[in-house]
Amino acid sequence: GDTIGENLDRAIAAHPGREALVVADGPRWTYAEFGAAVEELARGLLGIGVARGDRVGIWAVNCAEWVLTQYATARIGAIMVNINPAYRAHELEYVLNQAGVSVLCASLSHKTSDYRAMVDRVRADCPRLRSVHYIGDASWDALLAAGRTVAAGRLAAREAEISCDDPVNIQYTSGTTGFPKGATLSHHNILNNGYFVGETLGYTERDRICIPVPFYHCFGMVMGNLAATSHGACMVVPGPSFDPAATLRAVAAERCTSLYGVPTMFIAELGLPDFASYDLSSLRTGIMAGSPCPVEVMKRVVAEMHMAEVSICYGMTETSPVSTQTRRADDLERRTGTVGRVMPHVEVKIVDPATGVTLPRGTAGELCTRGYSVMAGYWGEPERTAEAVDPGRWMHTGDLAEMREDGYVRIVGRIKDMIIRGGENIYPREVEEFLHTHPQVSDVQVVGVPDQRYGEEILACVVPRDPADPPTLEGIAAFCRDRLAHYKIPRRLEILDTFPMTVSGKVRKVELRERYGAAGH
Ligand code: ATP
Ligand code: MG
Repeated sequence: GDTIGENLDRAIAAHPGREALVVADGPRWTYAEFGAAVEELARGLLGIGVARGDRVGIWAVNCAEWVLTQYATARIGAIMVNINPAYRAHELEYVLNQAGVSVLCASLSHKTSDYRAMVDRVRADCPRLRSVHYIGDASWDALLAAGRTVAAGRLAAREAEISCDDPVNIQYTSGTTGFPKGATLSHHNILNNGYFVGETLGYTERDRICIPVPFYHCFGMVMGNLAATSHGACMVVPGPSFDPAATLRAVAAERCTSLYGVPTMFIAELGLPDFASYDLSSLRTGIMAGSPCPVEVMKRVVAEMHMAEVSICYGMTETSPVSTQTRRADDLERRTGTVGRVMPHVEVKIVDPATGVTLPRGTAGELCTRGYSVMAGYWGEPERTAEAVDPGRWMHTGDLAEMREDGYVRIVGRIKDMIIRGGENIYPREVEEFLHTHPQVSDVQVVGVPDQRYGEEILACVVPRDPADPPTLEGIAAFCRDRLAHYKIPRRLEILDTFPMTVSGKVRKVELRERYGAAGH
């Protein structure tokens, strides 16, 4: 029943002197200081005339101001719109107009991205956009200055108008399978999800959570920030964008107890030449989510990163995001073979995607979920909402999964990624898991590409362990023979340095299919 502002106030009252936010090479704020900084920005936004329900965009890499914007917009009943920091001008323009953003908070630049130049390019085509404030720039100071003229009671008066069922956030999906969709989420949706995720991990005010995943995505801002503040824990930000060495440095320097990442991030950290030199002994838990984790990687995370309680979460932007999660005492088998059990107050069922009929345990079908966590809908897209959320409020995830006898859910793959070769269904995940055990393979993605004879053929895209010694197709086939059914053995091989990724760290299989699909004919 709390709004995000009310919930933050509880943490401030309970632990004013404990650290809330630490940014490597940036500010360190206690809960009292963090609360004051949030309030200063909230007043600034009131001062420039942001009304309840107005959309405030945040287009920035990870930094303190990102977090301040998240809590300040929530405080004043605005709807924050998370904009992917990897976007370019054209995509920015789409989101600004699609969500009707009137105020934009943005980074000035990062690496090769000149955010100000891109905003300048599209501004004339975004009629709703009234003002832009760049972090670390005079325009940001002006925003804060506008707050100093705001009368004392106005912030409290605004907060009294807000309900926990108000929309607080438009989060765009990762765009793994197509164009991103803007999920409209309320205080109730995401605050509860963050709270329960933290509860399952056993968070208390003593936890320090290293968050190298982008805040723009629900993994960072809900499972990271909201899970932290709803338990009085500390958010530790290792840097503006993911860097494996900076992440492990932050864990060691800040004595973090929890570390987040998608599997490819953990693979990069474990692969650092000086991995053994980081003191990771403070870690006890963390979250690995977003895509399937290879068993070999999980074993090393548990043993070599001290993350004995690391939790696997499954979910999607549209469901706030987490629907299932492993528990603290779960064994390695559950942590690698499943994505855990259903979260409190959430329902899950597995249905036949063709008929909608609920399937028995042990049978794979489409995972559907219902509960407080399901979004109100896609912003401004009622037809796409109706395709995803049925009249009974069940969210159809597009993921294939199986509910085991023990209540743990096993993800089989995405419906869209399933390969049908000569009438046989092949789940890329199973082949990828197997190829991960090949000594010359560092990372692998398996996709279906068009084939005249079989309809689809299996392509393995491999990042080799040693670029000078990549595996050959004959070598892969020989490795698979007698250990994998013949129809699952890859018939084509591409050697890559890296995979095309979303900013949230998912491999865009769709791009691999496009890139190599035509060559199959
Ligand atoms: P888009 O919907 O735009 O194509 P997306 O589905 O990747 O992109 P997100 O909402 O960020 O956007 O991701 C949700 C999806 O991520 C899930 O539907 C599922 O396919 C995948 N996923 C999430 N967690 C896991 C996990 N633990 N294991 C396997 N897959 C996962
Ligand atoms: Mg999706």
